[in-house]
Amino acid sequence: ATPMSIMVGTGRGATAGVLIKNAEALEGLEKVDTVVVDKTGTLTVGKPRVVSITTAEGQDEAELLRLAASLERGSEHPLAAAIVAAAKERGLTLSEATDFRSLTGHGVIGLVDGHPVAIGTLKLLAELGIDAGSFQDQAESRRLEGETAVFVAVDQRVTGFLGLADPIKESAVAAVQALHADGLRVVMLTGDSRTTAQAVAKKLGLDDVQAEVLPEQKGEAIKRLQAEGRVVAMAGDGINDAPALAQAQVGIAMGTGTDVAMESAAVTLIKGDLRGIERARKLSRVTMRNIR
Ligand code: ADP
Ligand code: MG
Repeated sequence: ATPMSIMVGTGRGATAGVLIKNAEALEGLEKVDTVVVDKTGTLTVGKPRVVSITTAEGQDEAELLRLAASLERGSEHPLAAAIVAAAKERGLTLSEATDFRSLTGHGVIGLVDGHPVAIGTLKLLAELGIDAGSFQDQAESRRLEGETAVFVAVDQRVTGFLGLADPIKESAVAAVQALHADGLRVVMLTGDSRTTAQAVAKKLGLDDVQAEVLPEQKGEAIKRLQAEGRVVAMAGDGINDAPALAQAQVGIAMGTGTDVAMESAAVTLIKGDLRGIERARKLSRVTMRNIR
């Protein structure tokens, strides 16, 4: 097919622009029956904030945050950035962490002030042989509100957890409605916990949720849908979304996301506005009709 680059509606004020790399993508959009959407940074703003700190009786909230932020300084994850920002807002003095390791999709571990510290999911703690105890129930009630619970363990014991909230993009609500009105299935794909993912999905009225999916499994999740006969468009923003974007019939990157995502996708939503998907489909229909 002829290579082409089409800009859709960039000049129209509030409605965001769409960049389509090639004719295959334009053609593919018309055939799509399922839109798979990453949660963090795609359906949500992607700027989480620490909204709660839960510690054991008598434990110091600020110290928990300080230790967590000291270690998270080494991570590039949006949750890590939020934890470091929260510590800075409180004027806490961070320590140098050593032996830092990032465990993709799980969290981070390392030494802070000579103590082993682990930060991340319940699964990470379980793999380290640490029991979250009564914190698990408390975390679950935050997850029901759509928050992500990040556990903190020091010296192999959980000292508490941070609740992080990432608001849903205003444009995402209308985008999902438009896709539904066009008869498409909208499915969330995320590494976050099932409860958190379901809380967000419920607010948006999504058709299905695949949660606790590790980065290397995201592409496989798309393959499974395709094996069921689905024609899939995948929208995502992260490095961890790249294999899924490449696997989908149409990969859609957020212009607000990583370069790797944009390189892996044939379509870019310049301002990260998901309403662009439906607009591009409309354009696809008109264009294909004119070609035929
Ligand atoms: P998503 O698909 O939502 O972008 P990821 O695969 O990046 O999720 O991460 C999955 C989960 O692993 C996160 O929801 C979080 O609980 C945990 N996690 C990953 N990285 C970190 C980190 N640096 N600090 C704390 N938790 C983390
Ligand atoms: Mg993301």
